[in-house]
Amino acid sequence: FLCIRQVLLLYGSIIDMKNILNRYVNMINDGREKMRDVLIIGSGPAGITAAIYAKRANLDVLLLEKEYEGTGQIAESPCVDNYPGLPGISGYELGERFLNHAKKLEIEILEDEAKGITKTEKYFQVELKSGSCLEAKTVIYAAGASHRRLMIPGSKKLEGNGISYCVSCDGAFYQGKDAAVIGGGNTALDDALLLSEICRKVFLIHRRESFRGAYGTLKLLEKKKNVEIIRSTEVKKLEKRGREIQLFLDSGRELTVHGIFAAIGMQPRTEILKGLVNLDKNGYIQTEEEGLTSAEGFYGAGDVRAGKLRQVITAAADGAAAATAAARYILEHYQ
Ligand code: NAP
Repeated sequence: FLCIRQVLLLYGSIIDMKNILNRYVNMINDGREKMRDVLIIGSGPAGITAAIYAKRANLDVLLLEKEYEGTGQIAESPCVDNYPGLPGISGYELGERFLNHAKKLEIEILEDEAKGITKTEKYFQVELKSGSCLEAKTVIYAAGASHRRLMIPGSKKLEGNGISYCVSCDGAFYQGKDAAVIGGGNTALDDALLLSEICRKVFLIHRRESFRGAYGTLKLLEKKKNVEIIRSTEVKKLEKRGREIQLFLDSGRELTVHGIFAAIGMQPRTEILKGLVNLDKNGYIQTEEEGLTSAEGFYGAGDVRAGKLRQVITAAADGAAAATAAARYILEHYQ
């Protein structure tokens, strides 16, 4: 009996060892995927265009996206009227068309988040939130930008509960009500225009006299009877009063609205690039013409790249240029 027991125990230990070994091997396999030619981080217009160009150049490409949000920031734009051939298309639909194009080309898409990037002598290692690690000969970083938050007394408590950063997502909640838009760029002007069709009254509050946004949109807004443009004015404080929000302006004036749309610009998502590539003082990636950064084989494309014009078309052009440059780099260094 003892002998049988010992044999069984030994057999059990062997099985345990085998399981542990299997798990270890699986962990290694899960954690270390095959080396890609191009890893693209971000699936907005820049990332998707880069993926299309890389795939058509016969490269092994993987497109990494944090989470499916309808192809990034563009999805929030209610109307894109400056993309050639598709006048007046909604940002969401344009984004969907980009994504479908990528899917049609059978581009591999992975939903995960890059948490850190290391450059080894010849390639890049990208650690993911899931714990896996990807390796690639080149990286095209097109992670875009996120909304700059309002940082005034009372604003933190109202985030998601009175303050929104997306008119096409939340505008409909303010049907027949009063809203304020803060900002002076294209987003603020477009938001105010869209809200003027939904709301009873729209206040557009800008801290300077002149606007960064398109002159044509500003002229349209000036003609709207339910839009009041308040220039050279800052909002000093916000207070929630029941279902309404009180805005305290630096002029001493107070406004009462039901919702606030903050459109005060974007911040590049470049936190994980610090120490890897050169960034400008605002955190945007400094690149050469084709998106090459200070790290060989690493390219920046779209809104994360330092530059003056940030549009869908410039993002797409960046993606195309970066993928073409990456293909050339691979040919020169790996063939
Ligand atoms: P933006 O052009 O950077 O404008 C941000 C605005 O917010 C500026 O007017 C700025 O004031 C103001 N601002 C910044 N911080 C503020 C603060 N703390 N308090 C109050 N105001 C503040 O940003 P955006 O409008 O989001 O546009 C981003 C990019 O996307 C731009 O390149 C834009 O052209 C593009 N875009 C294009 C379209 C289109 O073509 N249809 C639509 C949307 C966006 P100052 O002017 O005083 O700096």
